Amino acid sequence: MAWFRREQTPLPPREQESRVPEGLYIKCSACKEIIYRKEVVQNLSVCPKCAFHFRISARERLELLCDAAWEEFDQGLVSSDPLGFSDTKAYAARLKDGKHKTDSLDAVITAVGAVGGMRTVIASMEYGFIGGSMGVVVGEKVARSVERAARERMPLIVVSCSGGARMMEGTLSLMQMAKISAALARLHEARLPFLSLLTDPTTGGVTASFAMLGDLNLAEPGALIGFAGPRVIEQTIRQKLPPGFQRAEFLLEHGMLDMVVDRRELKATIVRSLRLLS
Ligand SMILES: [Zn+2]
Repeated sequence: MAWFRREQTPLPPREQESRVPEGLYIKCSACKEIIYRKEVVQNLSVCPKCAFHFRISARERLELLCDAAWEEFDQGLVSSDPLGFSDTKAYAARLKDGKHKTDSLDAVITAVGAVGGMRTVIASMEYGFIGGSMGVVVGEKVARSVERAARERMPLIVVSCSGGARMMEGTLSLMQMAKISAALARLHEARLPFLSLLTDPTTGGVTASFAMLGDLNLAEPGALIGFAGPRVIEQTIRQKLPPGFQRAEFLLEHGMLDMVVDRRELKATIVRSLRLLS
């Protein structure tokens, strides 16, 4: 007989949903001001009072970056649930929910579109699909984007928004890190620019692979960026972490990022950077 029994209650979700909530008026989760929802959305989902950046979807991100309509590719790739995995819920059911919620088959949209007149490959991650986690499909789609950029001689932008590798696909999800990194090395050899944009949150295996490998690594203000969560680190090193730890501004100060860019200046900054690097 076991001496200890593990409690089977699932852990509560750690963070609150930070997308712009529904309703006519919303309360900003940072400054607590009551604001007209339309005003926030027109301001690219940035709080007009305190500049808090609400999370946006992969499609909204493409609208923000592209001059006009973009052409999506590989949208039919779907996870085969290789382990038949189930935790508090079957992985197959989570995939179905994700599809229902985001209208995509997995957590990234890959597309070719014009950015400041330059044909560019963009991979935009979707947090609404199982926390933007990277499984085989995300890995394959990002790797194919890199290969397309190299083959057709286009610059590459990857927008990360992810909780990391997808544990429901076990080690297969970890292998995506090496696959994408190797493809990026070939893109580098082909002397084509790769711009990595880290948005809230970018953690785990995504930070530990392609998100930090950009020729330029940009981030949005206040974005949580890290590998392990702060609680795990505190327990490991037995020290209190400094304020602002793992936020974009802290990382910039410590040389881990090149720029922290307000969303309202993002497109202009990206266009300027691509021109400079091309
Ligand atoms: Zn605010």
